[in-house]
Amino acid sequence: MIDLRVGDNMLVVPNIYLLKKGVRGANIYVVEESDGLTIIDCGFEGSDEGIIEFIESLGSSLEDVKSIILTHGHPDHVGSLPELIDVTEAKVYIHEMDIQLLERFTGLKKDSVKNSVLLSGGEIIDLLGETLVIHSPGHTDGSIVLYNSQRQILFTGDVLLINANGELSLPKKEYTKDMEKEKESVKKLISFNFNVLLPGHGFPVIENARSKFLRFIKDL
Ligand SMILES: [Zn+2]
Ligand SMILES: [Zn+2]
Repeated sequence: MIDLRVGDNMLVVPNIYLLKKGVRGANIYVVEESDGLTIIDCGFEGSDEGIIEFIESLGSSLEDVKSIILTHGHPDHVGSLPELIDVTEAKVYIHEMDIQLLERFTGLKKDSVKNSVLLSGGEIIDLLGETLVIHSPGHTDGSIVLYNSQRQILFTGDVLLINANGELSLPKKEYTKDMEKEKESVKKLISFNFNVLLPGHGFPVIENARSKFLRFIKDL
């Protein structure tokens, strides 16, 4: 059981932190590796200060941020990107089908995102060894899930969430473009062997995530 006081940053599993202090919006994960840091989603606008403070608290600097991966283009996940790209040289990964959302919610123009890497799904990203990009449309057209087989970790963005009761849940209909596609994308995750589930909202599941998942999709 994770002891998470609201507002605290925490180490969820080795190398992976969940940020809560000084940030707003979706879960922000920072992955710390010997060759640099990766930020997965960056919260609403104004979360950059909390992220930067945390990076400095690790004894790292902004130059150490090698990648920023955006699970999709909603404002609670991409809001502080403009500030972060101003102060880092990180590669910015986002699915090509969510570029319009990114532009709408950040005011950035596609070409002004330096070092951007447009994904289509199936790519391998240099994160904790090798991490697979799984295109999981439905919540948005360009939603992605990240899967690391070596550590059996799934970063689900808003494709799969954990509610206040600690149970798996789908994103709300009103924020989801196509609920049928979203369900199909969730069901496809059955082919991955994961133990840890790191959602875009809610507390992480740090063990036996797949058995919870199997129970969940029975009723889907
Ligand atoms: Zn969200
Ligand atoms: Zn979303």
